[in-house]
Amino acid sequence: MLIYTATANKHKLEEIKTMLAHAGAEILAHPAYKTLNISETGTTFEENASKKAAALSRLTENYVIADDSGLAVDALNGAPGVYSARYAGEGADDKKNNALLLENMKDISERGATFVCVIALAHKGEIIRIFRGECAGEIAYVPKGSGGFGYDPLFITTDGRTMAELAPAEKNHISHRSAALSELANYMSNQ
Ligand code: IMP
Repeated sequence: MLIYTATANKHKLEEIKTMLAHAGAEILAHPAYKTLNISETGTTFEENASKKAAALSRLTENYVIADDSGLAVDALNGAPGVYSARYAGEGADDKKNNALLLENMKDISERGATFVCVIALAHKGEIIRIFRGECAGEIAYVPKGSGGFGYDPLFITTDGRTMAELAPAEKNHISHRSAALSELANYMSNQ
């Protein structure tokens, strides 16, 4: 089965292809993804993922998946959440976002946080199903590690290392994205 994705991010595409290979799916980036420019204006991951998947699936007969992900910090009532990519403002880079997170948590000892990934599966404008993956950890006091992206250097996993200290395969094993993809793969295998 051919499935289009609402991402042109090479890193994400590879991960999606690997995870869904066993389910017999061929994965391609939807050609209209970039030109359609769907804005992530929702207040939940589910809303953003659904909006992208539904919009793109209106342009094809094939199934479409779209994801939205981010970091939810307990002591900040779930922030940065859906605003993770632009926490320090529109166009902010990872360094600025991480610096703001550390600043906002400097007097907070409760450091629990969760990476969340939501994937919406759509067909001809209808949302078929939504899959959610989570990865629990804690926010560090200083960044550590050079791998990954985004908040990885600040996210301490259950084994004590930050996400940025893990090898890619180790991250893929425990990540919120792979958890959501594995739910999707299970669903597809049962169809
Ligand atoms: P998006 O779902 O690709 O729009 O990601 C939103 C933002 O969430 C990213 O720009 C990162 O700041 C953050 N994020 C999502 N997944 C990860 C991850 O695996 N590691 C670190 N940061 C992440």
